[in-house]
Amino acid sequence: MRNFTYSRAGTAGEALHLISTLENARFLGGGTNLVDLMRENIEQPDALVDVTRLPFARITDTTGGGISIGGAVKNTAVANHEMIRRRYPVLAQAILFGASGQIRNMATVGGNLMQRTRCYYFYDDAARCNKRNPGSGCDAIDGFNRIHAILGASEHCIATHPSDMCVALAALDATVRVAGPNGERTIPFDAFHCLPGNTPHLETALRTDELITAVELPPLPFARRSLYRKIRDRASYAFALVSVAAALQIESGTIRNVRLALGGVAPKPWRARQAERVLSGAEPNPETFRRAADAELAGARGYRHNAFKIELARRTIAGVLGELADREREP
Ligand code: SF4
Repeated sequence: MRNFTYSRAGTAGEALHLISTLENARFLGGGTNLVDLMRENIEQPDALVDVTRLPFARITDTTGGGISIGGAVKNTAVANHEMIRRRYPVLAQAILFGASGQIRNMATVGGNLMQRTRCYYFYDDAARCNKRNPGSGCDAIDGFNRIHAILGASEHCIATHPSDMCVALAALDATVRVAGPNGERTIPFDAFHCLPGNTPHLETALRTDELITAVELPPLPFARRSLYRKIRDRASYAFALVSVAAALQIESGTIRNVRLALGGVAPKPWRARQAERVLSGAEPNPETFRRAADAELAGARGYRHNAFKIELARRTIAGVLGELADREREP
């Protein structure tokens, strides 16, 4: 591990000043991913700017009827918050499936958005990896790729995004609020994470001198009956092979509203818009759910060890939608 300097920012202004004046600096939240990457020499910052004391650790109502979750709020606080559990249960469920209690107690919302892939070859500095070393190649494509992407990948990188929380945020149409040297701006959640294309080392729309201050959820009354399902290799904490976040509103026998996102299958939390198009206005039955899943997976590509994910994703989508539809029919 390389030497680095450590500074603790007391205000957002101070944090932004430090990040833009210190050479090769990174913001430090809970450190649950960044510190691991530094130990492995994958990340090699010369300076860390601790932002855990900034006033971004609150969950509040927004004037528009949604909820604002500060960038420094711990994952545990989000999952346990009464408003989140009642109004956006899919988010609480995704976080609880995401990591052990110890990790959730440390990890922040902002850090969760910024965590990096768990591709084995990304962590192995003897391997070729375009994300770690642009232009070097990708050993995963012809290697052991059981955990890799079936949607949205490129010939340069087939890594998946590891977050569960972000899959729920993608389904809920969240917005990311960031502060930078030129003031504040907001980024729609679907535009926050990037597909790899030929630049897999560029993972988010966040600039290096910008700080995540909050994630905002719009009012979404039908999300009160939402669901997260995660399929993984073992029952204790493991990353998703496939996960599904969904919310469904049925009125007069047709699907009036739907939100659907997938995890474990793509380089970013995957908003399933093809499936949503099939579902909107359709009758909620197993045939519709299968057609929606087929539409979403039509462009999927499996590799040597992960082609099973295509059928697994189909079945998980149909299963989650079926369960939500059954709940909607409950008195
Ligand atoms: Fe690197 Fe991406 Fe290939 Fe993994 S899949 S080795 S992260 S380029």
